[in-house]
Amino acid sequence: MTDTKVYAARTKDREVIEKSSSGGVFTAISNHFLDHNDAILCASYNFETNREEFGIILTREERDRARGSVYIQSYAGDTWKKSVSWLKDNPGHKLLFVGVGCQAAGYARFMEMQGLRDRVTVTDLICHGAPSPKIWREYAEHLSGGERFSAISFRDKRTGWEHSSAIAVLNGREISLNKYRRIYSKRYTLRKSCSVCPYTRVDRYTDITIGDFWHLEKSMPDFVDPMGTSLILLHTDKGAELFESIRDDLDYRESNTADCWQMNLERPTEHAPDRDKFWKDYRERGAAYVIDKYSRVPVLKRIKGRIKRSMKAILSK
Ligand SMILES: Cc1cc2nc3c(=O)[nH]c(=O)nc-3n(C[C@H](O)[C@H](O)[C@H](O)COP(=O)(O)OP(=O)(O)OC[C@H]3O[C@@H](n4cnc5c(N)ncnc54)[C@H](O)[C@@H]3O)c2cc1C
Repeated sequence: MTDTKVYAARTKDREVIEKSSSGGVFTAISNHFLDHNDAILCASYNFETNREEFGIILTREERDRARGSVYIQSYAGDTWKKSVSWLKDNPGHKLLFVGVGCQAAGYARFMEMQGLRDRVTVTDLICHGAPSPKIWREYAEHLSGGERFSAISFRDKRTGWEHSSAIAVLNGREISLNKYRRIYSKRYTLRKSCSVCPYTRVDRYTDITIGDFWHLEKSMPDFVDPMGTSLILLHTDKGAELFESIRDDLDYRESNTADCWQMNLERPTEHAPDRDKFWKDYRERGAAYVIDKYSRVPVLKRIKGRIKRSMKAILSK
């Protein structure tokens, strides 16, 4: 395959869309592998360690726990090596890898070196940047008082996809994580290397790229869904064949690289201009202090945001 194929897509399963960060394409793709007793290597939130950790997934229950974007750099540990053993122990089977661009490119190369690349489908997520796991862990411990969260969502869609919020549940009570998410969007906690990320482009080292299809209303106003739509980029024949196998589970339209444009398909996220000051404050005062201080939104900006959202709601009626 020479040109990247582009689609706007959503799973037909409404319950899945509500629980997914975008249009639930990860679930549609992973169903295909689970239906054939194949494996998935991807990250899920570990409530004991407050980390997002890679693991080999073989059941729908485990897969469901991997849903949702978690704004923490994920931890791979020795799972890549374990996936090699799994493939060698299960010769007739395949594996789906899902991770952000740097992880996916590394995994694809690793599998080439192992002579196993033809048995894995490598999927990467469009990525704004990977935030420090240390800051998250410290903040999570501060919010939970050392107890364990029972649920977490960095994109709770009860208020819609575009106006989602971030929450954790502790002892049956919801705690807002919106300040944490704002710090992430404001680019304070991203790894230094994210600002020179070579994977923020349309062509990739993977078979498929998935992300959010932002600004869909400009190119396909009649295909917009308030619960979100995924963007799918197919880079290889293997990716195109997989799309063929799952297309009946999706509502989809073909698009192009111009209409699906977003910044991280063209260039890396720049650091916040006062990033060094943020980290100096963090080292002196800790995570709770910096997240509170740097997440504040100036009053004028808050008012402008509210007016913009109201106007958008009125115009979309
Ligand atoms: C840190 C991060 C930044 C992102 N930035 C953008 C962006 O700028 N633009 C954009 O269009 N899309 C971005 N995405 C991707 C987008 O948010 C959705 O994850 C993607 O569209 C898949 O959504 P879904 O509805 O198909 O599946 P979901 O069910 O939401 O699937 C989530 C998938 O992401 C994996 N995952 C979740 N968190 C992590 C993590 N920290 N590290 C590795 N894998 C993880 C899960 O294992 C699962 O495979 C980002 C995702 C992450 C994790």
